[in-house]
Amino acid sequence: MPAILLAGKPIAEKIKAKLKEEIETLKSKFNTIPTLATIQVGENPQATIYLKSQKKNTLELGIEFQEHPLPATTTEKELIDYIGKLNQDKEVTGILLQLPLPPHINSKDIPIHIDPRKDVEGIHPENVGQAIFGKMRIGSCTALAVMELIKSTGVDLYGKEAVIVGHSEIVGKPVSLLLLDKFATTTTCHIATGQRGYLPTHVKRAEILVVAVGRPGIIQGEWVQEGAIVIDVGINKVGDKIVGDVEFEKASEKASYITPVPGGVGPLTVTILMRNLVEAFKIQHNIN
Ligand code: NAP
Repeated sequence: MPAILLAGKPIAEKIKAKLKEEIETLKSKFNTIPTLATIQVGENPQATIYLKSQKKNTLELGIEFQEHPLPATTTEKELIDYIGKLNQDKEVTGILLQLPLPPHINSKDIPIHIDPRKDVEGIHPENVGQAIFGKMRIGSCTALAVMELIKSTGVDLYGKEAVIVGHSEIVGKPVSLLLLDKFATTTTCHIATGQRGYLPTHVKRAEILVVAVGRPGIIQGEWVQEGAIVIDVGINKVGDKIVGDVEFEKASEKASYITPVPGGVGPLTVTILMRNLVEAFKIQHNIN
């Protein structure tokens, strides 16, 4: 039987409806609204697309949206100083840094300078670390989107074999921690797994498979276990089409659930960003 498609939009709509109510309540209680400040260094077409989608979501939810465009010549120190000012600004609830940054700024050096209570992308080491203790309130938007998709299947993760392909700081590693927190038995594959030729061995064992590499078709459909849940995070441009990392057609014949690309993880990520912002507001107002 072909797999059930796991679309992100219906889940995103449900989360947004709840957030809208919550924001109204917070607004009347504190007489202020959550404010998202976004910093874009230089011009980048991809960042501009994300910016538009974030702006649309904030408008929908009644969140204040501030744009902070900085020149492409901004130095790393100037950017860190600018973040410092937003950290101090009482009107700003959350700070979002649009990627990619110009090549002279190392994007991995920046998250530590964002106040963890304003880190709506969940990339500050303090927030990442909370996942280890099962106490994450603000977390990686993509990783939390993956978890929402898995949750929507209603499958109990206890003792399940979960295989994560990719170990980046923003996707693979946090997904591994979040699945581990649900008592899944997790295996994280990375470049060395691929180089040793062990990728098929691990993927074939996966009852839950999460792939975040950025290489079209790296996961062959025939490797997918019968009945597996497949979450494809990858976004790749092939010709004029956007495809994931998993061979979709073949994998769909074997999986029980599979995310489409586009339309799976993507539409949920920006909603989780909004949820992180509301969580940041609550943390800053001492609400549990
Ligand atoms: P990344 O930082 O480049 O990480 C890719 C990961 O894949 C790395 O851990 C890398 O390992 C691993 N890898 C590379 N070649 C491999 C191989 N042959 N076998 C096994 N693992 C291999 O990318 P990312 O930021 O995590 O993003 C991954 C993909 O997800 C991209 O296509 C990106 O566009 C997409 N994405 C989508 C969303 C969304 O909202 N839908 C959000 C974020 C990212 P090494 O580091 O050891 O080389």
